[in-house]
Amino acid sequence: MSMFCYQCEMSQKNGCGSTGATVGTCGKDENLARLQDIMVFGLKGLSAYREHLNELDPTLTKEVDDVMSETLYFTLTNVNFNFQDHINQLMKVGEAGVKVMDHLSNSHTNKFGIPTPVTVPQNKVEGKAILVSGHNLEMFEKLLIATEGKGINVYTHSEMLPAHGYPELRKYPHLKGNIGKAWFDQAKLMETFPGTFVVNTNCIVPPKKDCDYLDRLFTYKIVGVEGATQIEDDNFDELIARTLECEDADGFDSEETLVTGHHYKTILTLAPQILEAVEQGKIKQFFVVAGCDAPGRGGEYYRELTQNLPKDCVIITSSCGKFRFNDIDFGEIEGTGIPRYLDLGQCNDSNGAVEIAKAVSAALDTPINDLPISIVLSWMEQKAVIILLALFSLGVKNIYLGPKPPQFVNEDIYNFLSETFNLTLTTNAKDDLEKLLIA
Ligand code: SF4
Ligand code: SF4
Repeated sequence: MSMFCYQCEMSQKNGCGSTGATVGTCGKDENLARLQDIMVFGLKGLSAYREHLNELDPTLTKEVDDVMSETLYFTLTNVNFNFQDHINQLMKVGEAGVKVMDHLSNSHTNKFGIPTPVTVPQNKVEGKAILVSGHNLEMFEKLLIATEGKGINVYTHSEMLPAHGYPELRKYPHLKGNIGKAWFDQAKLMETFPGTFVVNTNCIVPPKKDCDYLDRLFTYKIVGVEGATQIEDDNFDELIARTLECEDADGFDSEETLVTGHHYKTILTLAPQILEAVEQGKIKQFFVVAGCDAPGRGGEYYRELTQNLPKDCVIITSSCGKFRFNDIDFGEIEGTGIPRYLDLGQCNDSNGAVEIAKAVSAALDTPINDLPISIVLSWMEQKAVIILLALFSLGVKNIYLGPKPPQFVNEDIYNFLSETFNLTLTTNAKDDLEKLLIA
């Protein structure tokens, strides 16, 4: 189907485009229809970050709210049929994405301190345990306070891993470690995890009706699934009581570790050493390998890519896609003490890669797009769309995107993005690496 729209009374039977038409009754063509879809997907991603920001500081959301409202208005029937206006509106959405990520990042560091690198025990559980998945650090702090002194240990899952880097969160001794990988191992993990499980944002895996952990599954605010218990008004009493009824941990006694906490504000303190290493040729290239993870073999691309990078390359990552390769010990750039693997944090910390690029650009007096930085993103859902639009709005080019082409981008739009931003779809890690590595 080249387009699909059924939003107004003039809709053709079963929706404009449902029988192959490339133009709707109103005159909206498939390119405009898809650009409007991308706008809406970008807004969905934006709304997630806006909600977190609203919890931390409601005074900062006005600009973002205005863009969301204007963009929805833009997608109404018979408002705008101009291609370039659609691109401009997409860039506005991207700019709002930059703003919301900057505000969110600053609100997090103002409240929880600037993260510093930390080694986190992985897959080791002790005693009564709560496992928390999602992105909501505000809720996580409340939970750590509520469980203090209760004989309960708290663990992170997926996008909560970066919580360990924040001084005001890791000061709690009952924050013990991380369990599992990216979001989609939840169901399998909960079958064996001995404690309770809280999901405080997307991504949640809907449990099967006959699963045996529904009475141990708790959801928070917008998250919900049938049969789980919703935490109301930040009251964790029921969660704590259910956790204390659970068996003590058994079977999670791994000696593995993961590293996180390389927030861009911490990395910028290393700027002089990093620049010296670049000038001396000890660091040849930076690879931003970031984004979401999804079930399936597609994500293996990112492991293969990072594993095969030369030792003079630094890997900068964020979001849950890193779980495809964050168990690898990438070591340091030889003779510098600079780690080769830097975890900026959650998906909303993706702005850190741009901040680092801006600092290097200023120091080397070189435009960002001419720096030895390659960006290889993985996308899964709409937060990745807002991150991509944010990068485009900043004029960042030469991005590789995978592991699959987005279905909502047709050939015309892909050609436009390719010509304007040099957007490239990933193929296989070996071939892409050959193209990406600077000779
Ligand atoms: S807005 Fe246009 S394309 Fe969409 S249903 Fe109405 S007539 Fe069809
Ligand atoms: S990074 Fe993306 S896929 Fe991963 S948990 Fe967050 S929203 Fe979901």
